[in-house]
Amino acid sequence: AARRVCCRRSVCSSPSRRQSCMSAWVIDQYDTDGGGLRFTDEATVPTVRSPTEVLIQVHAASLNPLDISMRGGYGAKLLKLRREPLSAMHSDSEFPLILGRDVSGVVVDCGSEVTHFAPGDEVWAAVPPWKQGSLAEFVTLTEYEVSHKPELVSHTEAASIPYVASTALSALVSAAGLCRDSSSNKRVLVTGGSGGVGTFSIQLLKAWGAHVTVTCSHNAEGLVRGLGADKVVDYTEGDVAEQLGMMEKFDVILDNVGGDTEQWAVGLLKPWSGAKYVTLVTPFLLNTDSMGLMDGTINAGVTLCAKATQNIISNGVFYRWGFYAPDGPALDEVRKLVDAGKILPVVEAQFPFTQVPQAFQKLEQGHARGKTVIRVA
Ligand code: NDP
Repeated sequence: AARRVCCRRSVCSSPSRRQSCMSAWVIDQYDTDGGGLRFTDEATVPTVRSPTEVLIQVHAASLNPLDISMRGGYGAKLLKLRREPLSAMHSDSEFPLILGRDVSGVVVDCGSEVTHFAPGDEVWAAVPPWKQGSLAEFVTLTEYEVSHKPELVSHTEAASIPYVASTALSALVSAAGLCRDSSSNKRVLVTGGSGGVGTFSIQLLKAWGAHVTVTCSHNAEGLVRGLGADKVVDYTEGDVAEQLGMMEKFDVILDNVGGDTEQWAVGLLKPWSGAKYVTLVTPFLLNTDSMGLMDGTINAGVTLCAKATQNIISNGVFYRWGFYAPDGPALDEVRKLVDAGKILPVVEAQFPFTQVPQAFQKLEQGHARGKTVIRVA
């Protein structure tokens, strides 16, 4: 469905929407010990503060590895600057901070210049990490960040997709240069194919006609094959680089694992043919956390340039970092694929809103097989 023009609405009619307090899970400080989540029913309900914002009642949210990291302070310096550019150098607090990057819910209020959404619309979105998150009853986003939810899946299922989809699209389209019309003759390797980004990427690439090879643990082979993977390599059995090295070389590698992967993976790409290695596991925010904004950014830039230069000279391949980027129109395209049955939500576990700490514990155990979702409303 095309984005549609709506009437202007800036005032909520329902009494329940007028209340100023809401339930939310917040952190009051960064905590690397795994605690720190606090339930409150006195969080302030966000309001539409700019003409392009929408207020969404959250029906479901999901967790990402980023939530675990952010709880411990990952990215704090850069994200604080992005939140409040003028106060980053001062002591203004980002707390209480609400985590949660995915939302599926219903629009309850729109700014005066919102044209694509109206109160009552069912929507989904990936909440940028510099904004208050979706582990709450309400969240505000700009219209550009929001998309109409697929009709054929529930809120719980829909909430499993936006953040990993936005990340995968940013990595595969912006960094790797793939698109729907240029992928049919491409060989793509997806490492870490059993997790959130991996399970989405496999399906997207298959919908675009690519040939997809996946690395994962042996007990995830059935899952990734069911999502369309053409070849599966069990990284726990034998030398994964050796097994992949026996295959035809790849046009694109999407690395969801990081670590030493790039050391053996770039050699699997077709040399001097425009092939690209894109990793989602980058040192950028770790650098800004440990070195400060200026030095950390410069250090990351130097690291990236050095690796990119070395890979083009030595291996004839492009080396890139991939990042999540908010993109409502891209989610519009994903919605079409979901409603066409070409992309299925992969929900591994569901938790009620009362059990958000248990959901974090589940995620901390690792070995994700798709997504962990929170039912909020
Ligand atoms: P998940 O935790 O959902 O999935 C990770 C998957 O990788 C798990 O299924 C895990 O299963 C598997 N895995 C672990 N080790 C290996 C290995 N050596 N080889 C193959 N598979 C392995 O993470 P996401 O999919 O959400 O994210 C993937 C990575 O991308 C994370 O590091 C995340 O932080 C990062 N990311 C970065 C973003 C950015 O903007 N740069 C945005 C989003 C994510 P098992 O251990 O059982 O094998």
